[in-house]
Amino acid sequence: MKEYDIIAFGTGSSMNIISSLIERDTKLKVAVIENEKAGGICLTRGCIPSKMLAYPAELIQEIRRAKDFFINAKIVSLDGNSLLRRVQEDVDKESKMIEYSLRHHPRIDYYDKTSSFVGDYTIDVGGKEIYGEKILLCTGSKPLIPPIEGLKEVGYITNKEFFYSLKKLPKSIVIIGGGYVSLELGHFMAMFGVDVKVVEMLPDIIMTEEPEARALVRRELSKDIKFYLGYKAKEVRRSMGKKIVVAENKDDETVEVKGDEIMVATGRAPWKETNVNKTGVKTDSRGWIITDEFMHTTKEGIWSCGDAIGKYMFKHVANYESEIVYYNAFLNRRIPVDYHAVPHAIFTHPQVAGVGMKEEEARKKHDILIGEYKYENTAMGEAMRLKDYFVKVILDRDTYQILGATVVGPEASVLIQEIINLMYTKEQAGAMYRALHIHPAMNETVQRAFYNLREG
Ligand SMILES: Cc1cc2nc3c(=O)[nH]c(=O)nc-3n(C[C@H](O)[C@H](O)[C@H](O)COP(=O)(O)OP(=O)(O)OC[C@H]3O[C@@H](n4cnc5c(N)ncnc54)[C@H](O)[C@@H]3O)c2cc1C
Repeated sequence: MKEYDIIAFGTGSSMNIISSLIERDTKLKVAVIENEKAGGICLTRGCIPSKMLAYPAELIQEIRRAKDFFINAKIVSLDGNSLLRRVQEDVDKESKMIEYSLRHHPRIDYYDKTSSFVGDYTIDVGGKEIYGEKILLCTGSKPLIPPIEGLKEVGYITNKEFFYSLKKLPKSIVIIGGGYVSLELGHFMAMFGVDVKVVEMLPDIIMTEEPEARALVRRELSKDIKFYLGYKAKEVRRSMGKKIVVAENKDDETVEVKGDEIMVATGRAPWKETNVNKTGVKTDSRGWIITDEFMHTTKEGIWSCGDAIGKYMFKHVANYESEIVYYNAFLNRRIPVDYHAVPHAIFTHPQVAGVGMKEEEARKKHDILIGEYKYENTAMGEAMRLKDYFVKVILDRDTYQILGATVVGPEASVLIQEIINLMYTKEQAGAMYRALHIHPAMNETVQRAFYNLREG
């Protein structure tokens, strides 16, 4: 049996750790295991390709708005298929480069099969067994497929097929699920002429966002996407060349939503095939790996980070957690993970970004102040003729500690960064009041939200 100093599952965030280690220790023997394209979810079927489509989709929105500025612009033709193919090719090229460097590294063995624990620190990598002194479980997540009658037989795609193999956009699509993956890919498809319908069993889309953020996104996206909210997909069948999703609401009312294709975007699930329990790593009831605050699993020498632990499934969090693993597992440090200000963004139309607590949670835990400001009440917002987009901040009433924030509108993911950075300082909101803000930039909206506080 081949023995390694380190075995790493996954070629996403685990590579942050491996590349640092390989540089530091020139004798290290490493095994890297990956059952999909090299580079991890973010590069091959997640953040990166989806944003390569989000930008042109937003460009179409901008061209549509050009008439507000007396610009007579017309989209003469759209070729979403070529765009999608280019994105797939670009990502594939990068992934192949990563795979090549892993396969040709003198101190790395690359295993490309779904691999499982067969015993203590021992893994079957497709017919042979390997042993690791330390093991990194950065197995990520995969699409959660709900048990809907007929779904498997009729066929469907997920983000993986979308980015790996879809050659042509369908004329129409039913997306099951109304979370961020659905809204990002749905928006792209709708902008490139696909008839998009979204079936969501919860009462609203992106339910983890503030109600007013959801309402604004729903209002804007409803111009191009048809939503069936509060409808749970029960059955899928095929009729007259179409795929049909039969969905029911709580009053037993049924809708039949038709499309040429079905996409399932109902959340993420853990890779149970890894069989981590065979080595004593405990998982929660859903199969997510349990770690302590130092990212250590329940088994000595085995560490985990990223989607695999089922907490904040974002690439920037996976990267941060992999840093914590690096320090604690290999540099003998004891650094606890800190989730007090985890940000995220949804790149749909409009963009949404959030950090920390939402109003409801903050109110339960603190006396709060809420600051809100609309883009349109700043000079740049007026110049851009924006309407209803906003910045919302939530502060602790006594300490002015920033508890959370939401931004909805152009560059939300950029504007919120000012607030995120302050949440990592001692001074918190104080610096926002003192810092000169460039006039007339969109960021004035952020500062003015802090000046526009009311009791929460
Ligand atoms: C469509 C989409 C869009 C997204 N957009 C964003 C975004 O804009 N911003 C953001 O922050 N996040 C985004 N995410 C989430 C982000 O991609 C993930 O949080 C992140 O990539 C997870 O990284 P990781 O290191 O945990 O796993 P990765 O290393 O990326 O994945 C683990 C790899 O291990 C493989 N594997 C698992 N089990 C085994 C096994 N037993 N044997 C062999 N191989 C195995 C998996 O197939 C996988 O390829 C998006 C996700 C999706 C699906």
